[in-house]
Amino acid sequence: MSKPAPSPVAAAFAEIPVVKPRVPCKVGAVLARLDDVAQAAVNGAIRDEDNWTSVEIARRLDSLGYPLKGDNVSRHRRGVLSKGGDACECPRLS
Ligand SMILES: [Zn+2]
Repeated sequence: MSKPAPSPVAAAFAEIPVVKPRVPCKVGAVLARLDDVAQAAVNGAIRDEDNWTSVEIARRLDSLGYPLKGDNVSRHRRGVLSKGGDACECPRLS
């Protein structure tokens, strides 16, 4: 007696997906490498959206050896300031 044909749907759901651990975005990874004083300075600029563009923050960090793009900072800002749209998973700034 032959086995019934396997259901493709059952087969597709036979394996539990691997959940990717939440990792800090590129900006979060840079912040983790900085000391408290430097972190506070960068976070101050990240909060201050009136005076600091994401491109400017990225440009200054990049010039200091922390390669970042304005888009990285924009996404981080959305994550830590508002949690809107395509935001990163870094903890909110208090
Ligand atoms: Zn982030």
